[in-house]
Amino acid sequence: MDMISKGVELLRLGSFSKSSRHSSKPPSICSSYSAESRSSSQGTESGTHLRTPSNGSAFAASFSITPIEDSQLNKQKIIDTPPSPAESDHERLSPPPPNRFNTFNPPPSPTHASPLSPLPRPIQEKSESYFDQPTTAHDNHNKSIDHSQHINNNSIHHSHHLNHHPVPSKHTHAIFTPSSNNNNSNNTGGGRRRRKHRKLQLNDFILKETLGTGSFGRVHLAQSKINGKHYAVKALNKHDVVRLKQVEHINNEPTILRDVAHPFLVTLWDTFQDDSHLFMVMDYVPGGELFRILRKQKKFSESAARFYAAEVILALEYLHERDIIYRDLKPENILLDAKGHVKLTDFGFAKRVPDITWTVCGTPDYLAPEIIRSKGYSKAVDWWSLGVLIYEMLVGEPPFVDKNPVGLYEKILDCRIPWPKDFSPVAKDLLLGLLTPDLSRRYGNLKNGSADIKMHPWFADVDWELVARRQAKPPFVPDIEGDGDSNCFAQYKEPNVSYGRQLNDDPHRAKFPAF
Ligand code: AMP
Repeated sequence: MDMISKGVELLRLGSFSKSSRHSSKPPSICSSYSAESRSSSQGTESGTHLRTPSNGSAFAASFSITPIEDSQLNKQKIIDTPPSPAESDHERLSPPPPNRFNTFNPPPSPTHASPLSPLPRPIQEKSESYFDQPTTAHDNHNKSIDHSQHINNNSIHHSHHLNHHPVPSKHTHAIFTPSSNNNNSNNTGGGRRRRKHRKLQLNDFILKETLGTGSFGRVHLAQSKINGKHYAVKALNKHDVVRLKQVEHINNEPTILRDVAHPFLVTLWDTFQDDSHLFMVMDYVPGGELFRILRKQKKFSESAARFYAAEVILALEYLHERDIIYRDLKPENILLDAKGHVKLTDFGFAKRVPDITWTVCGTPDYLAPEIIRSKGYSKAVDWWSLGVLIYEMLVGEPPFVDKNPVGLYEKILDCRIPWPKDFSPVAKDLLLGLLTPDLSRRYGNLKNGSADIKMHPWFADVDWELVARRQAKPPFVPDIEGDGDSNCFAQYKEPNVSYGRQLNDDPHRAKFPAF
């Protein structure tokens, strides 16, 4: 089967036609189909991976994790097994007026504060979290864990009784410090590195409600028992990851996130695993998904779209300088911090690619034509996706939409873009430079690299230095009441799973060295 047919098949399996991205989270796909059929030197990503919106269905070549009802976005994750193994607009990006943030005074973001940093606000051992801590089972270093669960009204209370020992202060020094081997001037955050600290463990956190779901699990709000600050803990089901041959991709995400540090990228603090799950501890990004805001507001003004595009461009530029392709740019993966600045999350498809790769990866609406053609592709796919993102922000839906997946692919390959009558000619000119199948003409892929995008007249009023310093004024400031406020996220039914089992009888542990 050729790659286009395979992609179409994946889309069909994902019941793509049943729900559009207009109202729900879209599918992402990642297939090694072509990579596997090519020489191993061309890349060895394994597995095929499809995410679709939630509408409760599951099909032959797919599975659904614990059924989840999302009252607002209605999401579901489906994996295809591989064939073989707002604020009002403002005219331009400008510096915030003096004391602008004093009036809002959001809680400081936990960015740059390790979950093990000293104890400004020690919290009580007895918590009121979803994951309460009553019982005892076995001793594992300094903790005892009981695996019983109490299910009440669809919420779960995991019982981890932890003989919690305060972390000695000499171990609580996980902060960002200047790094001598990373001094790229284009990057305001990359010159820092996380210092070593002792490995984090589940016992360091009180796990709270689900913030969002992914293909193999979910992301929980979590409170550090050491400093009281909130973090996001992604929990992935190992069994599902192995069954669906996604081991390499899953190891990839923390491996790449550990190597990056940038104000517009989510910070990963540490990873660990129990017998059944993999965990990633990240900064909590409290403003929620750009996707939600966009769907609520229908579309953004040019100035708002320009703000988000500018921050995304700097993030992509930073990744590309490190030969990392992001491969899943879309509003769902753009989170907003407490002040309304961008944080890219979900590096599940990110990959170090110095030159060219073949894996079919991404979200159908956002796939570049060269990915569909399956002749190999490079970083330029992210600039295509940027074009789709800007269009979607300005119009309210992506440029290529079709209920029929074959039709969608045809539209992308033919680059048939419906231009609304009132579409700004300057914006159109920019998008024609990004959404071109001709790689020798695509902005970002020419000899000036991303400078062609940043210098385009649509960005004429952007002070890129200001953007890089996170001093451009966000068009929308999330309504957040305090550290740990999750109002900007949808509500989910909590899963019927138990975290923390540590009998070490897990056959998969060694497969996840990145955890
Ligand atoms: P992912 O599996 O990485 O796509 O994450 C699933 C969802 O969890 C995202 O779409 C967000 O809604 C939420 N999420 C992921 N990471 C974070 C984070 N660091 N802070 C807050 N929410 C997050």
